[in-house]
Amino acid sequence: MSTLKIENLHASAGGTEILRGIDLTISSGEVHAVMGPNGAGKSTLSAAIMGRPGFEVTQGSITLDDIDVLALPAWKRAVAGLHLVMQYPIEVPGVMLDDVLGEALTSRGRDISGLGDLLRAEAARINFEERFLHRALNVDLSGGEKKRNETLQLAVLQPKIAILDELDSGLDIDALRDCSRRVEDLSNEGDLGVLAITHYSRLLTELKPDHVHILVKGRIVTSGGPELADVLEADGYAAFLPADEGDDTDEPASTGGLDDLFAL
Ligand code: ADP
Ligand code: MG
Repeated sequence: MSTLKIENLHASAGGTEILRGIDLTISSGEVHAVMGPNGAGKSTLSAAIMGRPGFEVTQGSITLDDIDVLALPAWKRAVAGLHLVMQYPIEVPGVMLDDVLGEALTSRGRDISGLGDLLRAEAARINFEERFLHRALNVDLSGGEKKRNETLQLAVLQPKIAILDELDSGLDIDALRDCSRRVEDLSNEGDLGVLAITHYSRLLTELKPDHVHILVKGRIVTSGGPELADVLEADGYAAFLPADEGDDTDEPASTGGLDDLFAL
């Protein structure tokens, strides 16, 4: 049983404060969805948790069990059990997927004798083509193949807590189903704790959240159960704009213009 605890997290990028006091606690086996409009700070939250350069935590704390996450460089955060599935997976020419996973497992003290079989089984499970297993990381893959690739890495590495930054972006409906179902299975069978950051509730049809949090302008303005995602689907983010910032617009929210309305 592991717990990622985020308390009063403030973070800046480029000299601008983006996260303005985030409190979140995610334990093994739980799925937390953080939903918010474009520009709300969702990717900044994932960057602050993983220690991405260029993002500065100015206040607050992040712990994974008894580990002070903020004191560690990004790679040690990963070895400690945090794993980020990036919104835009990067291509790494010359670095092969199976080699990366072998190295990563070795650095975690895990036995890699059955790695080939494990990779093939995991690939089949999410309809990821076997021929991509010994290919340079994400190079020349489609958006859906990249996210399948990232999901495969997650399943093989079995971290304690996974942060999914818009797993649904760039995915067609089949890939979305394969990837979100695999993460749901990992949370049920493998006790993975999940922080699923997303703009749309479509991710949450297969990946069932226990808790939904709404992030607007760097703050969690509402938390609730899975029904909150349905409210968002029906009404958009307009109802969740903080009262002290309600003068941003008098216009009712429309689906098309919503992102602009909330952009910082
Ligand atoms: P989301 O993922 O919710 O769409 P982001 O966390 O990417 O939002 O961005 C939140 C806000 O922070 C946006 O207004 C964005 O322009 C700003 N921002 C993100 N990265 C930087 C940066 N490196 N420098 C300055 N501003 C940034
Ligand atoms: Mg983002």
